[in-house]
Amino acid sequence: ESILREYGKDDKVLVSIRIRPTDAAHAWDIVDKKIKLNLGLGKAPQDFHFDEILTGSENKPVYTAVARSHVCAAMDGYNAVIFAYGQTASGKTFTLSGDEDQPGIIPRAMKDIFAYIKRTPTREYLLRCSYLEIYNESIHDLLAPPSQSSAQPVQIHGSGNNIVLSPLREEVVTSLKSVKEVLQRGEGNRRTATTDWNERSSRSHSVFRVVIESRERDRDGRATPTPSGRQTPGFRPPTPGGARLQARNGRSVQTSVLSLIDLAGSEKATSDKERTREGKFINTSLLTLGSVISTLADNSAKNKTDHVPFRNSKLTRMLQPSLSGDARISVVCTINPSKDAIPESTSTLQFAQRIK
Ligand code: ADP
Ligand code: MG
Repeated sequence: ESILREYGKDDKVLVSIRIRPTDAAHAWDIVDKKIKLNLGLGKAPQDFHFDEILTGSENKPVYTAVARSHVCAAMDGYNAVIFAYGQTASGKTFTLSGDEDQPGIIPRAMKDIFAYIKRTPTREYLLRCSYLEIYNESIHDLLAPPSQSSAQPVQIHGSGNNIVLSPLREEVVTSLKSVKEVLQRGEGNRRTATTDWNERSSRSHSVFRVVIESRERDRDGRATPTPSGRQTPGFRPPTPGGARLQARNGRSVQTSVLSLIDLAGSEKATSDKERTREGKFINTSLLTLGSVISTLADNSAKNKTDHVPFRNSKLTRMLQPSLSGDARISVVCTINPSKDAIPESTSTLQFAQRIK
């Protein structure tokens, strides 16, 4: 299928805007792939230009436009990261997770991955999922029991492209049903771990990761035996660096990571408490993410090697191997188009423009 190679023609970073439906009057006009304020507010109108501008409640076209080629890239051995960025209630979780009626990017990606495996009989695949939450610069394993994950936060070991997260549970998944169970367990743990679920979920980043390993089968259809398999016989331990096509016993072995990230709400601090501790952390990590992505995009476009400030936040440190090199990045910025959200939507569009 031709879509399998689509990612090749894109830039390193795909930046899209999703405008959620609202009954209130819209403050924005969309013309082609531009967005502009339609109110005379005494300010010069700003034009924002993006790769994709999506409207409506259908999640399928969103998946096709912003995620499908990245998922294919991940199956082909590239690391890929998809972010949802925006103010609380603008549609990040709807876009990434969706609901029964409108499954979001995560379930659609997993469905595509299993379909891809099915039509690639020449390779054997192993998929391992992990699910994390970053709250106040502390990383929690959502697949561990809450008592355990709060007592023992996940640590980032190593540096650069050799990052290992531990202790971290990785669940082998073999079907959509098993993925669903993993996601539900993570969500359940996330809810029980906190007394104020809404508050915390809008103040934390959640990261769903799939490590995809594959190797060629030999002529008899058996996978190559390897000596070093630990957790799963025959496969080597996780290498989050996304090493592509390493020869192993004469046959190619591929490892890549697909990360799907529901970021903390981008709104400005609203209470004193947030302005002090939490707000500071959120701002720092979202600001750092913006700097990291814009530097990566710039380096890639202009063939430069400017310093990328990965180390300034846990999120970017953790993701360094998945953002570097020939990794593919997609950022969906969600906005609420109503008048009362103009300041936050403007700030989201500015973020999007900056990383473009
Ligand atoms: P966020 O995760 O950014 O805080 P949510 O995804 O939870 O926001 O969205 C808030 C509410 O709006 C939810 O009830 C969600 O179902 C709904 N919603 C968001 N975006 C859309 C959309 N594009 N179409 C229909 N409903 C949406
Ligand atoms: Mg949400």
